[in-house]
Amino acid sequence: MATVLLVEDEADLCNLIKGHLEGDGYTVVQAFDGPTALTLVEQHRPDVIILDWMLPGMDGLAVCRRVRQSHLMPILMLTARSEEIDRVLGLEVGADDYVVKPFSMRELLARVRALLRRVTLDAQSPVSGGQAAEPLASVAGAASAEADAATTTIVRGPLRVDPAMHVATLDGAELDLTPKEFELLQLFVEHPGRAFSREFLVERIWGYEYDGFERTVDTHITRLRKKLGPLGDKIITVWGVGYRLVL
Ligand code: CA
Repeated sequence: MATVLLVEDEADLCNLIKGHLEGDGYTVVQAFDGPTALTLVEQHRPDVIILDWMLPGMDGLAVCRRVRQSHLMPILMLTARSEEIDRVLGLEVGADDYVVKPFSMRELLARVRALLRRVTLDAQSPVSGGQAAEPLASVAGAASAEADAATTTIVRGPLRVDPAMHVATLDGAELDLTPKEFELLQLFVEHPGRAFSREFLVERIWGYEYDGFERTVDTHITRLRKKLGPLGDKIITVWGVGYRLVL
């Protein structure tokens, strides 16, 4: 069964949520502050993270940014703020969904299930597969998980990406992509809607950083957009962050 990392500093609420999650069969790991959450992410590699926005010391946004530097598991933000700008910002730092307090436990559980289902569909393997259900769980240690992911063809709208054959097609026509362009496209179709920072893309696709790397990412994105034709507009620029595929 899936492991949930629950990060919430209000102990009563944290324990209440934990009880409901366990009732649904999840394994729950609790953190009451940001730094502990980051440590537990490395120790437990949770399948999903429920992350409160307002935490003492290091807030949920900062935690989210840090997790996203090297992990792709779904993150559900809890927030008491309902301003639209905050919501957008939460998603732009790499959160996948959010729930505004006060929320019902039923709603929260439904969101968690939906996030895990999405990961499962992406990987086309059962949630109980744990790490295998999140093929890109870690930039550092993804090599073996990637081998599993590489056997799965991903279909997203008119796009079809076959990592094993290294072939991408648009409406059935093969796209003429360079290896880097292919890897970028694969990452986007595996995680539609997810915003990727330029730093993440460089580390993930190129494997190292160097001066001017942001321009390199931008150049590759521009070429990839052009090759995708009308669909190129679906790779959108996230201001101050990077890029995401909206499809
Ligand atoms: Ca809080």
